Amino acid sequence: MIKADLHIHTILSPCGDIEMTPSFIVKRAKEKGLNLIAITDHNSTRQCEEVVRIGRREGVEVLCGAEITTKEEVHVIALVDYTVRNLLQEWIDVYLPKIPNNEDYFGYQLVVNEYEEVLYQEPNLLISALNRSLDQTEEFVHSIGGLFIPAHIDKPQNSLISQLGFVPPGLRAEALELSRKSDLPGLIGSCGWLKDYCFLHSSDAHYPSDFGDVFTAFDVEKPNIESLKDALKNNKVML
Ligand SMILES: [Zn+2]
Ligand SMILES: [Zn+2]
Repeated sequence: MIKADLHIHTILSPCGDIEMTPSFIVKRAKEKGLNLIAITDHNSTRQCEEVVRIGRREGVEVLCGAEITTKEEVHVIALVDYTVRNLLQEWIDVYLPKIPNNEDYFGYQLVVNEYEEVLYQEPNLLISALNRSLDQTEEFVHSIGGLFIPAHIDKPQNSLISQLGFVPPGLRAEALELSRKSDLPGLIGSCGWLKDYCFLHSSDAHYPSDFGDVFTAFDVEKPNIESLKDALKNNKVML
């Protein structure tokens, strides 16, 4: 059984706390017994590599991903295999509007190493919507073998339900993500049509205190993209 938190922000997200560094995230995951975490900054994968590197040494498996904002302002978690992370980044770079970040207003967007030295500062605002629709995003993420998971669907902003009011029929999502404070029975009570979907519970951590206690358990041997796909398809998931 694997304990996973598949939605964590770092210091690279403008809204991510300055303490959400690669070293801190791996340390906290280890302390809390999380075997698998995913780094999902807003519209960027650039901090993933360093977290993966530290995680490998410390025994915490780390997946690369991003929380993509689609044209409809829907947040979607895209998780990809380490070997194709650059394809996801190149695609984001093409479609992210070139709007300069205002650090005083939105916050810093930094990639740091294990010692908290700044490796890169992202100049473009990462919380803009990409010039890609939900369907186009789904198609691309699946074309590189990734997982496509609409984020925090119970939230009143930037969720499938807040933006569209429904889950589009035919949308090929491996799972729907519930927010940290979600109430699944309540949600299904008000939206009965959601009962046939597979759900994940993730922290969407932006601050140190946000993560460690919210996770999804997967009945898999190896914590990788393929085994997660299998677990989601075959209902080997426990909230
Ligand atoms: Zn979000
Ligand atoms: Zn998020």
